[in-house]
Amino acid sequence: MSASPPLDLPRQTARADRPEPPMVAVRQLNKWFGDHHVLKDVDLEVAAGEVVVVVGPSGSGKSTLCRCLNRLEVAGQGSIDIDGRPLPAEGRELARLRADVGMVFQSFNLFGHRTVLENVMLGPTKVRRMSKSEARAEALALLDRVGIRDKADNYPAELSGGQQQRAAIARALAMHPKVMLFDEPTSALDPEMVNEVLDVMVSLAAEGMTMIVVTHEMGFARRAADRVIFMDDGRIVETGTPDEFFSAPRTERARDFLSKIL
Ligand code: ADP
Ligand code: MG
Repeated sequence: MSASPPLDLPRQTARADRPEPPMVAVRQLNKWFGDHHVLKDVDLEVAAGEVVVVVGPSGSGKSTLCRCLNRLEVAGQGSIDIDGRPLPAEGRELARLRADVGMVFQSFNLFGHRTVLENVMLGPTKVRRMSKSEARAEALALLDRVGIRDKADNYPAELSGGQQQRAAIARALAMHPKVMLFDEPTSALDPEMVNEVLDVMVSLAAEGMTMIVVTHEMGFARRAADRVIFMDDGRIVETGTPDEFFSAPRTERARDFLSKIL
Protein backbone atom coordinates (compact mmCIF):
# COMPACT_ATOMS: atom_id res chain seq x y z
CA MET A 1 0.00 0.00 0.00
CA SER A 2 1.29 3.46 -0.84
CA ALA A 3 1.98 6.12 1.75
CA SER A 4 -0.96 8.39 2.39
CA PRO A 5 -2.09 11.02 4.84
CA PRO A 6 -3.24 9.57 8.16
CA LEU A 7 -6.94 8.93 8.45
CA ASP A 8 -8.89 11.41 10.49
CA LEU A 9 -10.19 8.79 12.89
CA PRO A 10 -12.05 9.85 16.01
CA ARG A 11 -9.81 10.16 19.06
CA GLN A 12 -10.20 6.94 20.94
CA THR A 13 -7.66 6.96 23.70
CA ALA A 14 -9.44 6.83 27.02
CA ARG A 15 -7.83 8.88 29.77
CA ALA A 16 -7.49 7.22 33.12
CA ASP A 17 -8.52 10.36 34.98
CA ARG A 18 -11.73 10.72 32.96
CA PRO A 19 -13.19 7.31 32.26
CA GLU A 20 -15.20 7.25 29.06
CA PRO A 21 -18.28 5.13 28.42
CA PRO A 22 -17.79 2.03 26.31
CA MET A 23 -18.05 2.80 22.60
CA VAL A 24 -20.71 0.11 22.28
CA ALA A 25 -22.91 -1.06 25.15
CA VAL A 26 -25.50 -3.74 24.47
CA ARG A 27 -27.63 -4.72 27.44
CA GLN A 28 -30.04 -7.63 27.66
CA LEU A 29 -30.79 -7.51 23.96
CA ASN A 30 -33.55 -9.80 22.78
CA LYS A 31 -34.86 -10.10 19.27
CA TRP A 32 -37.61 -12.20 17.78
CA PHE A 33 -38.59 -12.89 14.20
CA GLY A 34 -42.23 -13.82 14.70
CA ASP A 35 -42.03 -16.40 17.46
CA HIS A 36 -38.45 -17.31 16.58
CA HIS A 37 -36.25 -16.02 19.41
CA VAL A 38 -32.95 -15.19 17.63
CA LEU A 39 -31.07 -13.00 20.17
CA LYS A 40 -31.29 -14.01 23.82
CA ASP A 41 -30.16 -11.72 26.64
CA VAL A 42 -27.13 -10.49 24.73
CA ASP A 43 -24.81 -8.29 26.82
CA LEU A 44 -21.77 -6.83 25.10
CA GLU A 45 -19.51 -3.92 25.89
CA VAL A 46 -16.85 -2.82 23.44
CA ALA A 47 -14.31 -0.26 24.59
CA ALA A 48 -13.09 2.54 22.38
CA GLY A 49 -10.36 1.17 20.16
CA GLU A 50 -11.19 -2.45 20.96
CA VAL A 51 -11.48 -5.08 18.23
CA VAL A 52 -13.99 -7.84 18.90
CA VAL A 53 -14.29 -10.85 16.62
CA VAL A 54 -17.63 -12.67 16.63
CA VAL A 55 -17.73 -16.33 15.66
CA GLY A 56 -20.40 -18.97 15.79
CA PRO A 57 -22.36 -21.42 13.68
CA SER A 58 -24.62 -20.31 10.86
CA GLY A 59 -27.95 -19.11 12.24
CA SER A 60 -26.57 -18.26 15.69
CA GLY A 61 -27.56 -14.59 15.37
CA LYS A 62 -24.28 -12.89 14.41
CA SER A 63 -25.72 -10.94 11.47
CA THR A 64 -28.85 -10.04 13.39
CA LEU A 65 -26.70 -8.62 16.20
CA CYS A 66 -24.78 -6.47 13.68
CA ARG A 67 -28.01 -5.35 12.04
CA CYS A 68 -29.46 -4.35 15.41
CA LEU A 69 -26.32 -2.33 16.16
CA ASN A 70 -26.79 -0.41 12.94
CA ARG A 71 -30.55 -0.24 13.43
CA LEU A 72 -31.22 -2.17 10.24
CA GLU A 73 -33.24 -4.38 12.56
CA VAL A 74 -35.21 -3.22 15.56
CA ALA A 75 -34.53 -5.15 18.74
CA GLY A 76 -37.51 -6.45 20.67
CA GLN A 77 -36.08 -5.78 24.15
CA GLY A 78 -32.95 -4.34 25.66
CA SER A 79 -30.82 -1.32 24.96
CA ILE A 80 -27.94 -0.35 22.73
CA ASP A 81 -25.77 2.70 23.38
CA ILE A 82 -23.17 3.96 20.94
CA ASP A 83 -20.55 6.22 22.53
CA GLY A 84 -22.80 6.78 25.53
CA ARG A 85 -25.92 7.67 23.55
CA PRO A 86 -28.92 5.38 23.12
CA LEU A 87 -29.77 4.17 19.67
CA PRO A 88 -32.36 6.54 18.29
CA ALA A 89 -35.65 5.27 16.93
CA GLU A 90 -35.87 7.25 13.71
CA GLY A 91 -35.45 10.54 11.91
CA ARG A 92 -32.37 12.73 11.74
CA GLU A 93 -30.92 11.10 14.83
CA LEU A 94 -31.01 7.78 13.03
CA ALA A 95 -29.06 9.25 10.12
CA ARG A 96 -26.46 10.42 12.62
CA LEU A 97 -26.27 6.97 14.14
CA ARG A 98 -25.84 5.40 10.72
CA ALA A 99 -22.93 7.77 10.20
CA ASP A 100 -21.41 6.74 13.54
CA VAL A 101 -21.65 3.02 12.82
CA GLY A 102 -20.06 1.99 9.54
CA MET A 103 -20.97 -1.39 8.14
CA VAL A 104 -19.32 -3.65 5.62
CA PHE A 105 -21.29 -6.66 4.43
CA GLN A 106 -20.40 -9.95 2.83
CA SER A 107 -21.80 -8.71 -0.48
CA PHE A 108 -20.15 -5.45 -1.32
CA ASN A 109 -23.32 -3.37 -1.73
CA LEU A 110 -21.72 -0.70 -3.91
CA PHE A 111 -23.96 1.32 -6.20
CA GLY A 112 -23.34 -0.29 -9.59
CA HIS A 113 -24.25 2.72 -11.69
CA ARG A 114 -21.79 5.00 -9.90
CA THR A 115 -18.02 5.06 -10.09
CA VAL A 116 -15.94 3.94 -7.15
CA LEU A 117 -15.10 7.57 -6.35
CA GLU A 118 -18.79 8.55 -6.49
CA ASN A 119 -19.64 5.64 -4.20
CA VAL A 120 -17.21 6.94 -1.59
CA MET A 121 -18.27 10.60 -1.99
CA LEU A 122 -22.00 9.97 -1.76
CA GLY A 123 -22.41 9.71 2.02
CA PRO A 124 -20.22 12.72 2.87
CA THR A 125 -21.97 14.99 0.35
CA LYS A 126 -25.54 13.82 1.04
CA VAL A 127 -25.52 13.07 4.77
CA ARG A 128 -22.57 15.06 6.10
CA ARG A 129 -23.19 17.96 3.68
CA MET A 130 -19.52 18.16 2.81
CA SER A 131 -18.61 20.19 -0.27
CA LYS A 132 -17.95 18.16 -3.39
CA SER A 133 -14.34 19.25 -3.63
CA GLU A 134 -13.64 18.36 -0.01
CA ALA A 135 -15.45 15.03 -0.29
CA ARG A 136 -13.56 14.25 -3.46
CA ALA A 137 -10.18 14.96 -1.89
CA GLU A 138 -11.00 12.86 1.12
CA ALA A 139 -12.43 10.03 -0.97
CA LEU A 140 -9.27 9.90 -3.06
CA ALA A 141 -7.15 9.79 0.10
CA LEU A 142 -9.28 6.92 1.41
CA LEU A 143 -9.02 5.01 -1.86
CA ASP A 144 -5.29 5.51 -1.68
CA ARG A 145 -5.37 4.24 1.86
CA VAL A 146 -7.10 0.99 0.83
CA GLY A 147 -4.81 0.66 -2.19
CA ILE A 148 -7.26 1.30 -5.05
CA ARG A 149 -6.68 4.97 -5.89
CA ASP A 150 -6.18 3.93 -9.51
CA LYS A 151 -9.73 2.50 -9.66
CA ALA A 152 -11.45 5.75 -8.65
CA ASP A 153 -13.10 6.29 -12.02
CA ASN A 154 -14.04 2.67 -12.66
CA TYR A 155 -17.45 1.16 -12.02
CA PRO A 156 -17.75 -1.53 -9.35
CA ALA A 157 -18.30 -4.29 -11.93
CA GLU A 158 -14.86 -3.51 -13.36
CA LEU A 159 -13.18 -4.33 -10.03
CA SER A 160 -12.24 -7.67 -8.52
CA GLY A 161 -14.16 -8.80 -5.45
CA GLY A 162 -11.27 -7.84 -3.18
CA GLN A 163 -11.07 -4.38 -4.73
CA GLN A 164 -14.85 -3.94 -4.42
CA GLN A 165 -14.71 -4.86 -0.76
CA ARG A 166 -11.88 -2.40 -0.17
CA ALA A 167 -14.00 0.26 -1.93
CA ALA A 168 -16.86 -0.63 0.44
CA ILE A 169 -14.52 -0.14 3.41
CA ALA A 170 -13.42 3.24 2.04
CA ARG A 171 -17.05 4.21 1.57
CA ALA A 172 -17.86 3.34 5.18
CA LEU A 173 -14.78 5.21 6.47
CA ALA A 174 -15.78 8.32 4.53
CA MET A 175 -18.53 8.88 7.10
CA HIS A 176 -15.94 9.08 9.91
CA PRO A 177 -17.61 6.29 11.87
CA LYS A 178 -16.93 5.73 15.55
CA VAL A 179 -17.42 1.99 15.15
CA MET A 180 -16.98 -0.29 12.16
CA LEU A 181 -19.03 -3.47 11.83
CA PHE A 182 -17.88 -6.14 9.42
CA ASP A 183 -20.22 -9.04 8.69
CA GLU A 184 -18.22 -11.85 7.07
CA PRO A 185 -16.39 -9.35 4.85
CA THR A 186 -14.24 -11.96 3.14
CA SER A 187 -16.51 -14.96 2.85
CA ALA A 188 -17.72 -14.10 -0.67
CA LEU A 189 -14.17 -13.58 -1.94
CA ASP A 190 -11.92 -15.89 -3.89
CA PRO A 191 -9.20 -17.13 -1.55
CA GLU A 192 -6.44 -15.12 -3.19
CA MET A 193 -8.30 -11.89 -2.43
CA VAL A 194 -9.00 -12.51 1.23
CA ASN A 195 -5.71 -11.15 2.53
CA GLU A 196 -5.82 -7.84 0.69
CA VAL A 197 -9.06 -7.09 2.55
CA LEU A 198 -7.89 -8.46 5.88
CA ASP A 199 -4.69 -6.39 5.63
CA VAL A 200 -6.75 -3.22 5.35
CA MET A 201 -8.77 -4.29 8.39
CA VAL A 202 -5.66 -5.11 10.39
CA SER A 203 -4.23 -1.67 9.71
CA LEU A 204 -7.52 -0.02 10.68
CA ALA A 205 -7.41 -1.95 13.93
CA ALA A 206 -3.82 -0.84 14.50
CA GLU A 207 -4.88 2.79 14.01
CA GLY A 208 -7.33 2.48 16.88
CA MET A 209 -10.66 1.96 15.15
CA THR A 210 -13.31 0.31 17.29
CA MET A 211 -14.35 -2.79 15.36
CA ILE A 212 -16.83 -5.64 15.62
CA VAL A 213 -15.97 -8.26 13.06
CA VAL A 214 -17.97 -11.38 12.25
CA THR A 215 -15.45 -13.68 10.65
CA HIS A 216 -14.10 -17.19 10.86
CA GLU A 217 -10.69 -15.99 9.70
CA MET A 218 -8.64 -17.06 12.65
CA GLY A 219 -5.52 -15.46 11.25
CA PHE A 220 -7.26 -12.10 11.45
CA ALA A 221 -8.51 -12.81 14.96
CA ARG A 222 -5.02 -13.68 16.14
CA ARG A 223 -3.45 -10.65 14.45
CA ALA A 224 -6.00 -8.03 15.35
CA ALA A 225 -8.62 -9.08 17.87
CA ASP A 226 -8.52 -8.10 21.53
CA ARG A 227 -11.38 -10.45 22.24
CA VAL A 228 -13.32 -13.25 20.57
CA ILE A 229 -16.94 -13.90 21.37
CA PHE A 230 -18.63 -17.14 20.47
CA MET A 231 -22.36 -17.12 19.77
CA ASP A 232 -24.61 -20.13 19.63
CA ASP A 233 -28.38 -20.22 19.31
CA GLY A 234 -28.79 -16.49 19.93
CA ARG A 235 -26.58 -16.29 23.00
CA ILE A 236 -23.04 -15.21 23.74
CA VAL A 237 -21.75 -18.50 25.10
CA GLU A 238 -18.09 -17.72 25.51
CA THR A 239 -15.73 -14.77 25.46
CA GLY A 240 -11.96 -14.68 25.71
CA THR A 241 -8.74 -13.61 24.09
CA PRO A 242 -8.09 -15.15 20.66
CA ASP A 243 -5.46 -17.36 22.22
CA GLU A 244 -7.76 -18.57 25.00
CA PHE A 245 -10.65 -19.17 22.67
CA PHE A 246 -8.87 -20.92 19.83
CA SER A 247 -6.41 -22.90 21.95
CA ALA A 248 -8.58 -23.75 24.93
CA PRO A 249 -12.29 -23.23 24.36
CA ARG A 250 -14.15 -23.78 27.61
CA THR A 251 -17.51 -25.00 26.37
CA GLU A 252 -18.38 -28.19 24.54
CA ARG A 253 -20.32 -26.15 21.97
CA ALA A 254 -17.28 -24.01 21.18
CA ARG A 255 -15.05 -27.08 20.90
CA ASP A 256 -17.55 -28.69 18.56
CA PHE A 257 -17.74 -25.51 16.45
CA LEU A 258 -13.95 -25.16 16.26
CA SER A 259 -13.52 -28.80 15.26
CA LYS A 260 -15.66 -28.03 12.20
CA ILE A 261 -13.93 -24.85 11.05
CA LEU A 262 -10.32 -25.74 11.80
P1 ADP B 1 -25.85 -15.83 11.50
O1 ADP B 1 -25.45 -14.52 10.93
O2 ADP B 1 -25.15 -16.19 12.76
O3 ADP B 1 -25.75 -16.94 10.49
P2 ADP B 1 -28.49 -14.68 11.51
O4 ADP B 1 -28.43 -13.54 12.43
O5 ADP B 1 -28.45 -14.40 10.06
O6 ADP B 1 -27.38 -15.75 11.91
O7 ADP B 1 -29.82 -15.49 11.79
C1 ADP B 1 -30.23 -15.87 13.09
C2 ADP B 1 -31.57 -16.56 12.98
O8 ADP B 1 -32.55 -15.61 12.60
C3 ADP B 1 -31.60 -17.66 11.95
O9 ADP B 1 -32.41 -18.69 12.43
C4 ADP B 1 -32.25 -16.99 10.76
O10 ADP B 1 -32.94 -17.94 9.98
C5 ADP B 1 -33.21 -16.02 11.42
N1 ADP B 1 -33.44 -14.83 10.60
C6 ADP B 1 -32.49 -13.95 10.20
N2 ADP B 1 -33.04 -12.93 9.51
C7 ADP B 1 -34.38 -13.18 9.48
C8 ADP B 1 -35.51 -12.48 8.93
N3 ADP B 1 -35.35 -11.31 8.28
N4 ADP B 1 -36.72 -13.03 9.10
C9 ADP B 1 -36.88 -14.19 9.78
N5 ADP B 1 -35.87 -14.89 10.33
C10 ADP B 1 -34.63 -14.39 10.19
MG1 MG C 1 -24.62 -14.03 9.11
